[in-house]
Amino acid sequence: MAKKLNLQRENNFFDDVVKYFDNAAKYVKAPVGILDQIKYCNSVYRMKFPVKVKGGYEVIEAYRVEHSHHKLPTKGGIRYSEHVNQDEVMALAALMTYKCSIVDVPFGGAKGGVKINPRNYSEDELERITRRYTSELIKKNFIGPGIDVPAPDYGTGEREMSWIVDTYNTFNMSEINSLGCVTGKPVGQGGIRGRREATGLGVFYGVRQYLSDTARAKKLGLSTGIAGKTVVVQGLGNVGYHAAKFFYESGAIIIGIGEWNSAIVSKNGIKPDEALAYFKQHGTLDGLKGTKTLKSNLQVLEEPCDILIPAALENQINNENAARIKTKLIAEAANGPVTPEAEQILLKKGTVIIPDIYLNAGGVTVSYFEWLKNLSHVRFGRLEKRYQQNMNNNLIDAIESSTGKKLSKAQRMMIDHGADEKDLVYSGLEDTMIDSLEQMIETQSQNKKITDLRTAAFVTAINKIVVSYEKLGVFP
Ligand code: GLU
Repeated sequence: MAKKLNLQRENNFFDDVVKYFDNAAKYVKAPVGILDQIKYCNSVYRMKFPVKVKGGYEVIEAYRVEHSHHKLPTKGGIRYSEHVNQDEVMALAALMTYKCSIVDVPFGGAKGGVKINPRNYSEDELERITRRYTSELIKKNFIGPGIDVPAPDYGTGEREMSWIVDTYNTFNMSEINSLGCVTGKPVGQGGIRGRREATGLGVFYGVRQYLSDTARAKKLGLSTGIAGKTVVVQGLGNVGYHAAKFFYESGAIIIGIGEWNSAIVSKNGIKPDEALAYFKQHGTLDGLKGTKTLKSNLQVLEEPCDILIPAALENQINNENAARIKTKLIAEAANGPVTPEAEQILLKKGTVIIPDIYLNAGGVTVSYFEWLKNLSHVRFGRLEKRYQQNMNNNLIDAIESSTGKKLSKAQRMMIDHGADEKDLVYSGLEDTMIDSLEQMIETQSQNKKITDLRTAAFVTAINKIVVSYEKLGVFP
């Protein structure tokens, strides 16, 4: 098995984002000065700090980039990967700005990166690295509920976020909103129900909405809906696993799954839960019963399917493999999985790409809900859930007594239920993904020259940011 990650870039990642921006800016009416101010990164913090690991000291390289301060706090995840570099963090921070704008999350964009392979460190060592990284952020005012709010990304999760919030709290004991300094926390430490699966669920809602329209589906030679569609997923991390799970539960057939070191296919479909359990146990997907192992993990991207979901890292579909991609619809669950050069090749073939800055925005959307919960110091649904349930019961009682018919216990439970935190988070996320897609489609329909969804997404995002600069009066 050839283990590869397509990370050798044709261009700098940040330059690619600028390319997308410039292409879209042609359709935005705004002074060049405003567009330049939006495009570049406001603050880039590169740090090196020593950590005691493996019986000695190691100097760790890390970054935090705040791309745009047009709204505060800035927001974006922290990535732990040996491939982290300044260009990558800058690009990812910029994507966060556009992402937040598209889904109306009132934050600027930011991103952090620590250049380590987390698989090479013990839990204790990772805790020391995370706490030290956090204290470096505190020192330079790069973290705080009103300043810059990190979250999980590739290689990090709830555990790292709990170390971050604990470190921040230690230094900010009197800060009443300190829980809002980071999102993606465990529920017991100020997290919110539904955050873990949010990005994958957002990907599902986004694709489902795209395919709910007969004309859009027909253009791809597909029927509407998700059931029966063949799906390939690259990456079985938090985003890829949850996306695969929601597609599977809606009747899609997961015919291929790839990881960093392995990939499997099966015409009959793969159960995401089984694949994940197998991967956790064996450290590889190779050999999962009922599936065929591919020679190279990247080959999975080239499997014929209706929907291809790259949910790993950037630059996976590039000049080299774009012509061999055989899907109709690419759903960008990862950030930057398709390079601009590859996109041109794919668009010519009629492939539709639902872009990252819209499609994976479910994570930051629910992060926003978590931050609101932290600032309001109350769980969503706490005040109204029981009230709603009582009112629904009163209504059912009234209907039953006037009709003389009784509902079954199961029917009553389904109707009387008051919305709890998870219900509200799912509902807010669903509404956001539906509404934002239709905003992009509207942008496209207003200008016939905009033929692809990425340009439509960038134009939609930039237009909203321009308005907020005008409101700030920064450019009189
Ligand atoms: N890392 C995620 C992203 O790339 C989530 C960011 C957040 O929740 O702030 O969108």
